[in-house]
Amino acid sequence: MDKVYLTWWQVDRAIFSLADELRKNFVPDVIVGVARGGLIPAVRLSHILGDLEVKVIDVKFYKDIDERMEKPVITIPLHGSLEGKKVVIVDDVSDTGKTLEVVIEEVKKAGAEDVRIACLSMKPWTKVVPDFYVFRTDKWIVFPWEEFPVVVRE
Ligand code: 5GP
Repeated sequence: MDKVYLTWWQVDRAIFSLADELRKNFVPDVIVGVARGGLIPAVRLSHILGDLEVKVIDVKFYKDIDERMEKPVITIPLHGSLEGKKVVIVDDVSDTGKTLEVVIEEVKKAGAEDVRIACLSMKPWTKVVPDFYVFRTDKWIVFPWEEFPVVVRE
């Protein structure tokens, strides 16, 4: 699969755009960051939006770029109640959308009153189109906190 590399600068600009849209359309009480990929955007958003509370959920689904497990498995469950809260779920990318489906269910089970999804990116085939996203691509995205190609001179 082709890859596209995002820089820190692009990601930071994208997070500021998400923050702007959230301020205009949906001011959350709590951010739920989906580990690992959603954590950096979630923490950055929390600071930009005025120190919002961040809760964490960890869902494992991918073994490698093209290799998924049968279904997403929650490895760190949500802690505490979200009773009556406005919650934004933050992840790096909605690909199949299966991870977000599981997370949405957990957030609702925890009592959230209103739930929105914010992702840096989405794939055209996802079954969960985020309410807020910045990039749309059919390529495998490499985020700046992941690998980066190093050119070695011969
Ligand atoms: P989904 O359940 O939507 O198929 O996948 C969600 C998770 O898989 C994302 O939170 C992310 O961690 C990982 N993932 C899916 N597609 C990509 C991609 O293009 N790049 C990276 N870095 N991770 C991806």
